[in-house]
Amino acid sequence: MVDSPKTILLVEDNEDNRIIYATALRFAGYEVVEAVTGTEGVQCARTARPDLVLMDISVPELDGWEATAVIKADPLTRHIPIIAVTAHALPGDEQRSIAAGCDGYLAKPIPPAKLLAEIDRRFARTSPSYTPVSHQAHRHRTEPD
Ligand code: MN
Repeated sequence: MVDSPKTILLVEDNEDNRIIYATALRFAGYEVVEAVTGTEGVQCARTARPDLVLMDISVPELDGWEATAVIKADPLTRHIPIIAVTAHALPGDEQRSIAAGCDGYLAKPIPPAKLLAEIDRRFARTSPSYTPVSHQAHRHRTEPD
């Protein structure tokens, strides 16, 4: 990417899914912050100020809809786009996600390529980059938000 890497907050309690999505996102050049519960997700949104949140709806403590409502009620984080991810897509899940303040909605199963295509589209990446950025495991953000 030309710009500095975008940061994605991944809120997902299923370890396998978290590893798959985080690995795919990092491979595509995104920085990933991982949270396991809705409460952690809210905290990470405040501290990491991600460019986008990928929010599993079925997570412990606060569920994804509740966590979204908290993030969207906070002036510090309300601008951050949130894409809801549901495991058992039920009729009404999409409407409920939008009502909670989510900006988008994906139903599992989500192949990594589909996830990347959706996120690339949101950042208006015209050519998906599958070239990993150089690994800077402890890179610190230096730009003010
Ligand atoms: Mn889950």
